[in-house]
Amino acid sequence: MEVINDNNCSWINDLNSRTNIKVLTTHKNCDWLIIGAGYTGLSAARKLGQLYPNQNIILVDAQLAGEGASSRNSGYLVDTTLNDGFTSNKDLENYKKKADIYKLGIDAVKKFIKEHQVDCDWNECGKYFASSSIEDRNTLKNFSKTLSRLGFENNLLYKDQLIEKLGTSFYILALYTKGGILLHPGKLVRAMIDTLPYNVQLFENSSLLNWKKNNDAVLCNFRNGSINTKKIIFATNGYLKSLGIKKNYNFPITLTASMTRILTDEEFKSIGEPKEWGVLPVKPMGATIRMTKDRRILIRNTAEVHNPFKMSQSDLDKRSIKQRIGIKKRFPHLPDDIIKSSWSGIVSRTSNSSQIFEKIDDNIFVAGCYNGSGIGVGTLFGEQIAIKASNEHTKEIETIEARNKPTWLPPQPFLDLGIKTRLIYERIRARSEI
Ligand SMILES: Cc1cc2nc3c(=O)[nH]c(=O)nc-3n(C[C@H](O)[C@H](O)[C@H](O)COP(=O)(O)OP(=O)(O)OC[C@H]3O[C@@H](n4cnc5c(N)ncnc54)[C@H](O)[C@@H]3O)c2cc1C
Repeated sequence: MEVINDNNCSWINDLNSRTNIKVLTTHKNCDWLIIGAGYTGLSAARKLGQLYPNQNIILVDAQLAGEGASSRNSGYLVDTTLNDGFTSNKDLENYKKKADIYKLGIDAVKKFIKEHQVDCDWNECGKYFASSSIEDRNTLKNFSKTLSRLGFENNLLYKDQLIEKLGTSFYILALYTKGGILLHPGKLVRAMIDTLPYNVQLFENSSLLNWKKNNDAVLCNFRNGSINTKKIIFATNGYLKSLGIKKNYNFPITLTASMTRILTDEEFKSIGEPKEWGVLPVKPMGATIRMTKDRRILIRNTAEVHNPFKMSQSDLDKRSIKQRIGIKKRFPHLPDDIIKSSWSGIVSRTSNSSQIFEKIDDNIFVAGCYNGSGIGVGTLFGEQIAIKASNEHTKEIETIEARNKPTWLPPQPFLDLGIKTRLIYERIRARSEI
């Protein structure tokens, strides 16, 4: 199956179209092959290009580079995420391990941006974990304790303060955390493409159809060509399972998001002219909603089991209606037809939320499964999997590998059934927050 994406994503449409797209049409041999050109694959390619200036490195994507989830996300570079807020001493240790990885992820993105002077609308404005329901107060108070114990600055805010900060009276309480960055994900990933080292060849619109180990090499067949490589890194995230990689440990989830047009001066005044902000839900299935630097509103309020290769326009339209309702609930005075674009994107999950970072066979490596933290963690994991594949060790790899490994998942049809049931349960729990 081939990845077919919609052309609607505002983050992508903000950018100039790329030229000089190369499609793989022949047979090639190389030292290194990376499959998937999102944050993970691009970072792996960048690192390998630096490490091996005289080796032959190829990076291939099924669609245009960076135009998968890496451009289609909400743009939160996170330092912390909320599970259920209730953290025992033992869990605190695990939470710290996760936060240590997030910190390294932020450092990796910061280093890239500084080195290449990237403008990606970087804003260290922190984020709000917000709720419209008083029953979430305990979760937020407990989360606040966890964060304080680990040294993350945070404070609880109530309705009046939130009206002023966010321009909506929808939320009645929120935990504001000072850390975390909002950015333009399309600009960031485009910069990673534009700055690929000279010795990395990029092929796009070239889907990997199958692969097999062939003595010391790996032979990969694409739609119109093939590549024989000494080492390979799989960086296809939500499509790992479809390529048979760690298939009992990860599964794809489809998300959809919408973005409004730029608010007029009058509309912006009517909501109190707030500064850029980002809200994450307290309950996992609630809406992520963001006011961008240029006064657009982004909302993401669906997550489901769906065919990861394609979402039809009519399916997308149905989800867009949910996003229109989500915006209306929070900003009732804004016009009904304010949404400019709606798009879908694929994330990858494991059952215990651990990421995948592994050598799966001689010369075969994989990194992925970051759920909603792939901007930083994907950038970090891409670099570090390239280093691991070079048989080197770093303290970053130590931190990454200190986390629990993903746990085994049941086979189909039990897996889909289990996930769907869980998502329905979470959707019901979060119904007021969508
Ligand atoms: C709506 C949405 C909101 C999100 N919000 C956030 C957020 O706010 N913050 C955050 O950190 N993360 C967020 N995420 C998650 C984040 O986008 C991902 O974790 C991140 O993009 C993963 O990067 P990646 O490079 O590993 O994978 P991807 O960006 O998915 O790249 C994988 C690439 O592999 C390619 N590929 C797949 N199959 C093949 C094949 N057979 N042959 C060749 N190439 C193939 C794909 O075309 C794709 O380009 C969100 C995701 C979505 C969809």
